[in-house]
Amino acid sequence: MTDAEELQSRTRELLAAHPPAGTDHLDFLRARFDAGLAWVHYPEGLGGLGVPRALQTVVDAELEAAGAPDNDPRRIGIGLGMAAPTVLRYGTEEQKRRYLRPLWTGEEVWCQLFSEPGAGSDLAALGTRAVREGDDWVVNGQKVWTSSAHIARWAILIARTDPDVPKHAGITYFICDMTDPGVEVRPLRQITGEAEFNEVFLTDVRIPDSRRLGEVGDGWRVAQTTLNNERVAIGGMRLPREGGMIGPVSKTWRERPELRTHDLHQRLLKLWVESEVSRLTAERLRQQLVAGQPGPEGAGMKLAFARLNQEISGLEVELRGEEGLLYDDWTMRRPELVDFTGRDAGYRYLRSKGNSIEGGTSEVLLNIVAERVLGLPAEPRTDKDVAWKDLAR
Ligand SMILES: Cc1cc2nc3c(=O)[nH]c(=O)nc-3n(C[C@H](O)[C@H](O)[C@H](O)COP(=O)(O)OP(=O)(O)OC[C@H]3O[C@@H](n4cnc5c(N)ncnc54)[C@H](O)[C@@H]3O)c2cc1C
Repeated sequence: MTDAEELQSRTRELLAAHPPAGTDHLDFLRARFDAGLAWVHYPEGLGGLGVPRALQTVVDAELEAAGAPDNDPRRIGIGLGMAAPTVLRYGTEEQKRRYLRPLWTGEEVWCQLFSEPGAGSDLAALGTRAVREGDDWVVNGQKVWTSSAHIARWAILIARTDPDVPKHAGITYFICDMTDPGVEVRPLRQITGEAEFNEVFLTDVRIPDSRRLGEVGDGWRVAQTTLNNERVAIGGMRLPREGGMIGPVSKTWRERPELRTHDLHQRLLKLWVESEVSRLTAERLRQQLVAGQPGPEGAGMKLAFARLNQEISGLEVELRGEEGLLYDDWTMRRPELVDFTGRDAGYRYLRSKGNSIEGGTSEVLLNIVAERVLGLPAEPRTDKDVAWKDLAR
């Protein structure tokens, strides 16, 4: 039997033992994880079977045809796209067994405590301190723009453990329990009117050393795995043709001939083609990932995603004319996910502004592509040999 046939028959066995119509949603997802059909490229015992990632499509097609429930990947995007690959690469066996199953089933939502008021693009400048006390680390500081913190059980956190060495060297990576005393989550209202993200204040939060990921002082290296995966997670989703932002505007174009103009037609065609090229490029990037960890190439994908989302949603607002200025709901909501296709054109236009900031701004990603993909000269870095505590802030 080929790997694909083997996977197909395993999936059918899962469906026969747990018919989706008569099985509780969560029980089905747990059974799927235990059968190694959650993410097939993960190791056996951790939701996978250690086979090439590309074979996931075989499993997904069988499950979709049978109407099986999924784990709502948009709601748990940070866990799936960023925390999981980092835990897999740097976690101890115990950590992998504790965290990956409820992460994948969606029982435990994750958030990312990286950015701070004084450290965004220059993330390595972060000032949140973690000080060792016995078996614990005591953490104090403030994080910002923390998506999903209001629904999260766990966070991936980077904090400064040694202020006496240069900024990249004194960082350590932790898993923080968002329900612990000292963790305070406050909503931040965005341009969309929603509070999808938060400020998080950490006051004397005790994190056991057993929740450290990687070595003390090696947090910057561990964080690279998270950040490289983040760009792929944001810009490299698997989509059907017209599955992204181009879908709603193409639909409006087809259904509302009275709105059409020659100029908008030319722009729509250009953006449609670029969306399709970008979709196929993401597919190719995913195939490259089969061979290993994502590298800086994900930055290019995320750059294209942000630019296209903003141009397409702008075109849609123009196409709709006065109607495009309406907005469906200004109440401050606390959404659990970003819903580009379920909301109106105004929401798409406003929310996509954040696409060129989240996961690294477009300017910073251009620098990464220039330096690490094209091999152009690096920006001068005058602070790389200076102790963090001596840096101007
Ligand atoms: C919707 C959304 C969700 C987010 N979710 C999270 C989250 O869950 N967790 C988290 O930790 N963070 C999150 N962020 C934060 C995000 O990662 C940061 O906003 C981003 O890295 C930029 O940092 P900053 O806001 O501090 O801007 P700054 O770093 O202060 O940048 C300001 C401006 O200067 C430019 N700039 C900075 N450095 C350079 C340079 N070297 N060369 C050229 N231009 C430069 C930037 O491009 C930008 O235009 C989120 C942001 C958004 C918008």
